[in-house]
Amino acid sequence: MASTEKFTDKDGFVCPKCGDRRLEIVMTDAVVSQELDFNPHTKELLYIGDAEIHDACVDHFQCYHCGWVIPGATDEETLIKLLGGNAE
Ligand SMILES: [Zn+2]
Repeated sequence: MASTEKFTDKDGFVCPKCGDRRLEIVMTDAVVSQELDFNPHTKELLYIGDAEIHDACVDHFQCYHCGWVIPGATDEETLIKLLGGNAE
């Protein structure tokens, strides 16, 4: 690994830039669907509920707060190992 930045402690992920502990996954080439309704009175479309991800490619993992990218983590198994877990 090229980076020497430490991004874990005994409790898991900790961002070396801002100290936040929340992770975020960034995906590309996603197939996403969402319920849609047409309002005949306003003539507008209304998006209902949450979008559902059916298929997507992992691009990278990052800090949820500042966007610092975890080096070398290109899939969930690698991320788990980098965070000190036991991936199959
Ligand atoms: Zn951060």
